[in-house]
Parts: sequence; structure tokens; C-alpha cells
Amino acid sequence: MLIKRPKGTQDIIPGTIEKWHYLEEQIHKVCREYGYQEIRTPVFEATELFQRGVGETTDIVNKEMYTFLDKGQRSITLRPEGTASVCRAYVENKLYAQTLPAKLYYLGPMFRYENTQAGRYRQFHQFGIEVLGADDPLVDVEVINLLWDFLQRLGLRGLQVHINSVGCPQCRAVHGEKLLAFLMDKKDKLCPDCLSRLTRNPMRILDCKNKDCQALITNAPTTLDTLCPSCRQHWEKVQHYLKLVNIDFMINPKLVRGLDYYQKTAFEVMAEGIGAQSAICGGGRYDGLVEEIGGPPTPGIGFAAGLERILAVMQNQKIEIEDRNKAGVMVAILGDKARQEGFRLAGQLRQKGIITLMDLMGRGLKGQLKYADRVGARYVLILGEEELAKGIIIVRDMKIGDQQEIALANTVEFIEKQINSSEFEI
Ligand code: AMP
Repeated sequence: MLIKRPKGTQDIIPGTIEKWHYLEEQIHKVCREYGYQEIRTPVFEATELFQRGVGETTDIVNKEMYTFLDKGQRSITLRPEGTASVCRAYVENKLYAQTLPAKLYYLGPMFRYENTQAGRYRQFHQFGIEVLGADDPLVDVEVINLLWDFLQRLGLRGLQVHINSVGCPQCRAVHGEKLLAFLMDKKDKLCPDCLSRLTRNPMRILDCKNKDCQALITNAPTTLDTLCPSCRQHWEKVQHYLKLVNIDFMINPKLVRGLDYYQKTAFEVMAEGIGAQSAICGGGRYDGLVEEIGGPPTPGIGFAAGLERILAVMQNQKIEIEDRNKAGVMVAILGDKARQEGFRLAGQLRQKGIITLMDLMGRGLKGQLKYADRVGARYVLILGEEELAKGIIIVRDMKIGDQQEIALANTVEFIEKQINSSEFEI
């Protein structure tokens, strides 16, 4: 019986992988332009890192982690998100001793044991950035700006930036009390999850997806109502800078995000038309996290964007990307001598960076031409014993449907010229 891939995972096969390459290139490009450097951390970490860094009250830690004991009896977890690992690496590699802020980005698979549905997988990919060591509200806006720029360059339309401030631990304590008082006589109607949040992390009740809970908290006090003067000032400045760079945003006081460590700014980008899982990116400030995992007190802010969801929006909006993997040249040969010469020629063309294919299936000439068509080759070079004897080769332009004979010795130069000419389009 065929062994299938695990539930909630995907094979990314040719035909789709080109889109991933394109996304990844755009990520590297935008990050480079904003002065961010890539960081790669292990796909698995000590479980405690996420318990401490993501938070014991979160669904991620409580329900969704792939945790196992390795052969040395250590508790290991496949990373469910990237921020905790980046902060750990920042501390472990003493990046705080280098020029601050550390502006880092990452790209890679994350693992969560979730109920799978469209847009929700068990292995999915995130692109994220983290700025460590700077607490200026301008940084919050640079982070949102990079994200917005990236999404605009991809050509995505109909996106909404939602922002909120969840305050610092001091204003959150005040909010918690107010919320508790507000919910006192309604708490029997809360869902079981919210009932446990009531004592552990009441703020998170605000973004419960349960319809009954949502109805109960319509007029609940929000974190914006209880910001302390310093958090309020930060919040005002973030809005000011967002306007300065012309980013439209919606204030969403119910946006509190899933992770325990968020402080002050929290934001999400939502997309239309990809179903219930409409958040393509989420982020925020986490000024207490680095200290929480054993580093020096360090402010931090970042986001994580889901690549599967971005690709879903691109597909939904019919955003096409150029296929740069189409062959430039297919060398079609007839006879064994020609095969050897053709093989040599293919090698020379590849050295010049030209995508070159040859028949590997023993096809006849007709079959080889069909193959050239299937792979979208721009030129077919036809070489038989006769051409070889005359020292020529036939160049067929598949786009125009024309063909000509040229000297075999000039082939590479000729093709290179054609391909580099401004009219050349694969
Ligand atoms: P989070 O780390 O939960 O804030 O998620 C950040 C982004 O990652 C979300 O906005 C999604 O785009 C993406 N994401 C999170 N969980 C999943 C999942 N299970 N499957 C696919 N994408 C996800």
C-alpha cells in the first residue's frame, strides 16, 4: 500500500516550487534593502524554550506542539514559531554585544499539531523579521512598512492592516481587573477555554472566536482604555508614523494575538477571499521576551507571515509570476556521433548560463521536437550525421517557427547572442 504524507503537510512539486522560489527571492530582496540579515536556527529546540518563550497559557504550547523525548531522554519540540528561537540565538551568540539594533529575518518550516483545514496546516512556512534592542515607535513602523512593501511588491490587493496596543504588564494588570469585573456576572456563559483564560490571561478572551463569547464581550473594556502614559505616547507615535508612510490601518481593539509575550503594538494583516483563515501575517512588540529566556533586558518587535496563505491570495487574485525555468535550448540529435557532439554542445551552453536540455529517453526526431515543445524550449538545435559531416547545425526558433543553418563551430556564440538580444523573450 502507498504510504502517504502525514496529515497537514504538503509536497511542493515542480509547477508550484517556482512560486516559492519567487517569494523567497522577494523576501531576501526586501530584507536586504531594509538592512535585515538572515538568521537560520534549528528546526527543533529544547521544549522549555517554547514553554517560556511562547507562554504556558497559549494554545500553541498547550495543544499544538510536536514534542518528543529524544534518545538521550531530552524533551525536544519541533519549532511552532520563529521568535523564541531567534531570541535564544541572539542571547546564545551574544549578538547584543554587536551593533544594535539586531535586525534579523528568517524563513522556514514551522510545526503545529492543528486541526487541519484550508489555510491551516501542520507543517507550514513562515517568513519573519525581528528587531532586537530598539524600543522607538519608529521601529514598529519600519517593521510594518517592510511587510507592507513586500506584500505590495507581490501585487496583493484588498489587504487590511489591523493594529492595536496591548500595553505593558502594568497597564495590562489594570485592564485585567476591569475585564474581570465586567465579566463577573457573565462568566457562566463563557466557553471553557475563556473560563480558564479568566484567571490565567484574561486579555485573550477579547479575541476568542466563539460566537457566544464574542457577543458577551462586545462592550468589554479594551486594552486601549487602560494604557499608561508611556504606552499611550508610544501608541500615538506609531499611528503618526504609519500615516507618514501612507499605510492605511484599522484600529482593532480586539486584536490581542495568541502569544503571551506581546507588549504595546500588536498588528495583523488580513486578506480577502481565502476563507476563514484570513490572517496572512501577525506581529507585535515583545519587550520582555529576551529577558524571559535568560538574556539581558532587550526590547524586541517582529512579525511572522504565512507563505502558504500569501500564495493562496496570489492564486485567488490570479497573480501570475514569470516562469524562468523554461528551457532556452533543446539539443535534438540523430545518431550516436551526433549524440556525443550534442552532449558536448549542451555542456558548453550550460557553462554560459543557458538552460539547455537533451533527450534522455531515446526518442526519435519527432519525439524530441515534441519534447522541446513541452518544455517550452525557445530554440531547438538539430544535429544529425549529415549536418555533422558538413560542419553545420540547424537552429529552429520555436517562437517564430523559422529555421536556419549555421556553422557548428559558431553555435554557442550564435545562441548566446540571440538570447542576450533585447528582443529575446523566453
Ligand atoms: P502566528 O505565529 O500564529 O502569529 O502566525 C503568523 C502567520 O503564520 C499567520 O498569520 C498565518 O499566515 C501563518 N500561520 C499560522 N499558523 C498556520 C498554520 N497552521 N498553517 C498555515 N499558516 C499558518
